[in-house]
Amino acid sequence: MDRNGFAASLFGLTRLLAAVAGLAAAAVAEAVDPLPMTETAPGVFVHQGRHEESAPDNAGDIANIGFVVGERCVAVIDTGGSLSVGQALAAAIRRRTERPVCYVINTHMHPDHVLGNGAFADSGGAVRFVGSARLPAAMAVRTNLYLSAAAAAAGTECACNGPNAAAAFRELRLVVPDLLVDGEMSLDLGGRTLRLRSWPTAHTDNDLTVFDEASGALWLGDLLFEERLPVVDGSLRGWLAVLGQLRKLPARHVIPGHGELGLPWPAALDPMERYLSGLAGEVRAAIARGRTLVETVEGADPQLAAGWTLAEVTHRRNLTAAYVELEWEE
Ligand SMILES: [Zn+2]
Repeated sequence: MDRNGFAASLFGLTRLLAAVAGLAAAAVAEAVDPLPMTETAPGVFVHQGRHEESAPDNAGDIANIGFVVGERCVAVIDTGGSLSVGQALAAAIRRRTERPVCYVINTHMHPDHVLGNGAFADSGGAVRFVGSARLPAAMAVRTNLYLSAAAAAAGTECACNGPNAAAAFRELRLVVPDLLVDGEMSLDLGGRTLRLRSWPTAHTDNDLTVFDEASGALWLGDLLFEERLPVVDGSLRGWLAVLGQLRKLPARHVIPGHGELGLPWPAALDPMERYLSGLAGEVRAAIARGRTLVETVEGADPQLAAGWTLAEVTHRRNLTAAYVELEWEE
């Protein structure tokens, strides 16, 4: 065999191995029950998570996640709260298209949006993981958050601080994005462009939105909560400011991080804005009256969080976060 012949057969062997690896990956995907999906706009598929905390019977399937199909490839947007949810999402994609996944986009750091990343990692580098420029640092300092969320989804003891923490963390196969958005970035899926935008600190310090030009679908991540009480894990004042800018985006379909599809835009932001501005108003008034943090949380008017699900714990947490943020404002 001459050198060209050898190279050609090596090339053939590599392709064969890649094909076998692909079949093996497909077999794994087929073995998992695919997540139910709704096609909310042409080529835009969303799975709605439950309004629950992560638990064994939901496996961390508590956030809205999904994918967009282009002519060349598929972009995944958030991967769910466990590796198994990510695998079920991968199976749902295989049900609908043979086109490969080329991007996995994380809207922010929270475990219910990123713990399924590992399900898309075995691709020989063909999949790029995408997030806000501030996402890697945020993920790096939250090992315990991911371990405890994974333990909650699996119903196991958290290895958070034990001697097995490092091994438990490796098992998560958590992939940290390295294609980073600082401002705006466009991704081409073949005949279909996604416009990504990172935001100043709001729900978290690494929020990212994804706008699909073809359908007008806007993935808001947790910048939009519906039904489930918003969690302030970034900046209350920042979030209220970002809401004002989000309103101007020309969305025809909106996908909240938690909540229903088909919401009117931008009116979908109203209930959340009422809650967040009410929270700021109440905490500012308490601070002005000289109330302590504990007095503010204990004496808060429960009416503010009325009508939201999972409000009990989250509302107290939000009051605490708001107090700490607003205590020193000018
Ligand atoms: Zn979140």
